[in-house]
Amino acid sequence: RIAAGAAAVAALLVDVPDFPEAGVVFKDVTPLLADAAGFAATVAALAEAGRGDDGSVVVDKVVGMEARGFLFGTPVAQALGVGFVPVRKAGKLPREVHEQSYALEYGEATLAVHVDGVAPGERVLVVDDVLATGGTAVATRALVERCGAQVVGFALLLELTFLPGRAALGETPVLTLHQV
Ligand code: AMP
Repeated sequence: RIAAGAAAVAALLVDVPDFPEAGVVFKDVTPLLADAAGFAATVAALAEAGRGDDGSVVVDKVVGMEARGFLFGTPVAQALGVGFVPVRKAGKLPREVHEQSYALEYGEATLAVHVDGVAPGERVLVVDDVLATGGTAVATRALVERCGAQVVGFALLLELTFLPGRAALGETPVLTLHQV
């Protein structure tokens, strides 16, 4: 968790009612990204999910989902000293991919990863901005497993606790920095 200034960081997550459609309260992270101290504290806190109790790095790769998982996942990978692998919407990656369909809080889509994006046996931390229904995270874990690798944890900025995302992820450890 963010120890110092958690409330200040949470205040940088702005509610946008009825976006992208009526009834959805969209969590806009762009004010947080624009705040140097808040962004740095957030990246450091998310990266803790990739460390063991003694502080050593226990993951081989960070995987982030298009698009906001890229914004948080790439600096987390750099903080841990490991590589970053993008999970993208179908049709965007140029080489051979695994694909997985998933349901969003709003709509439905298909995610893809390069078949050699994560190597067999690697330990992966999955990073994204918002945990809602968990569909995106579950699909991403399935893609990592189809590469022969293992998701050892999820790290997300914000958890919508009125949705069953955490339950959908089952036994895999989940770190969320803020809960609403
Ligand atoms: P889900 O698959 O339902 O857990 O939805 C998570 C994905 O959808 C994440 O990649 C989020 O970026 C996005 N998302 C879902 N709900 C919201 C929300 N209320 N505000 C912002 N992003 C959201």
